[in-house]
Amino acid sequence: MTLSFGQNGVFFMKKALLRCKTCGAEYGADRAPFRCACGEPLDLAWNGFGIEANERCQSRRYAAFYPFAAGEWRSLGEGGTPLVKLETLAKELGLAEVAVKNESANPTWSFKDRGTASCIAHARALGYTKVGTVSSGNMAASVAAYAAAADMEAFVLVKGNVADEKLAPIAIYGPHLLRVAGPYYELYGESLRLGAERGIYFMNSDVPFRVAGSRTIAYEIAEERGFRVPDWVIVPTSAGGNLRGIVNGFEDLRRAGLTEKLPRFICAQAANISPIAAAFAAGAARIRRFPDNETIAHAIDNPFPPSGNRVLAELRRLGGAVLTASEGEIVRAQADLARCGLFGQPASCVPLAVLRRARADGIVAEGESAALVMTGSGLKYTAAFAAHRLEWRDCDLASLPAYLK
Ligand SMILES: *Cc1c(COP(=O)(O)O)cnc(C)c1O
Ligand SMILES: [Zn+2]
Repeated sequence: MTLSFGQNGVFFMKKALLRCKTCGAEYGADRAPFRCACGEPLDLAWNGFGIEANERCQSRRYAAFYPFAAGEWRSLGEGGTPLVKLETLAKELGLAEVAVKNESANPTWSFKDRGTASCIAHARALGYTKVGTVSSGNMAASVAAYAAAADMEAFVLVKGNVADEKLAPIAIYGPHLLRVAGPYYELYGESLRLGAERGIYFMNSDVPFRVAGSRTIAYEIAEERGFRVPDWVIVPTSAGGNLRGIVNGFEDLRRAGLTEKLPRFICAQAANISPIAAAFAAGAARIRRFPDNETIAHAIDNPFPPSGNRVLAELRRLGGAVLTASEGEIVRAQADLARCGLFGQPASCVPLAVLRRARADGIVAEGESAALVMTGSGLKYTAAFAAHRLEWRDCDLASLPAYLK
């Protein structure tokens, strides 16, 4: 898969590769290899020329950072989400800046749309007419929506015990929606195997072009701040694909000479399901399966994340941290953000909970800046309302004046 671009009347060709950051193996991007032979995930990389600072391509802002022709994209308007500065909170925490990247402003209300758009472009470039995913939440809705927009058939596989009311917001887009009984953790590998056999492009949690889609979160944070990166970027982490993509995005910018340094990264997990935090604290190179506990941050409840080993390696390489939040801290963070006008689902509020910890532990120092990735909308998980003490009152019209004082 090559992309040609012009510069001063000279045309260059560059070749997209999928590279394993763990063992160094490289694969062509013109097939759909979803994982390295060593078992670890793959990242989009370029052979020869990297991303050049002055590359811009047609209408889609960051299209030049991807190996697709303009006609292969089927955008629903993903990305370009607001970076909202929270001054009161910054003051309270003794920080120069706390900014929230509000990913609930995406077409299906989570960051997943960025990766879905890039996977759809890849699938179309390779001639696929069928796509699929394994998810029961944000990714399922995102893939179903983008498949509908691209006029592709979609196969969405969800866990056997998912409640009916969680299926309706996926079914509305018209995919083949299959509730699959049996061990959920086997569904990831089995879907990729069956997809290869049946010609279905399975865009699961951390496949290469889903991860590549998250790079634009980094581009936008940097661009919004005049290409000065924040000291810290905090990402709620389940499979690990989003964090990997954001790290890669900041590395792209530095390689292109657009920024001078990388931010430091904090992987934020719910304490109840924190396999990456456990391995990080133990100094282990590989994650181990965590007990299947419950957490209100259900969107990050993966007990055995497929990119867990890679996230560990990236954080160690770049001097990052992994921090966890208790259920109570997550609920408090959700309330705090809502009081700033931002209503995120519990998982997407874990970065704020973790920032408080990081300040208390002295990991994030006074006067530094932090960007929190608020990954998805609060309306995606209305069950969380029960965790808050929410109040309202009844009155009649005649007594209304007495209440408006
Ligand atoms: C998917 C998701 C995450 C976790 O992203 P990973 O790439 O799996 O680490 C976090 N928050 C929300 C709201 C999500 O939908
Ligand atoms: Zn490898």
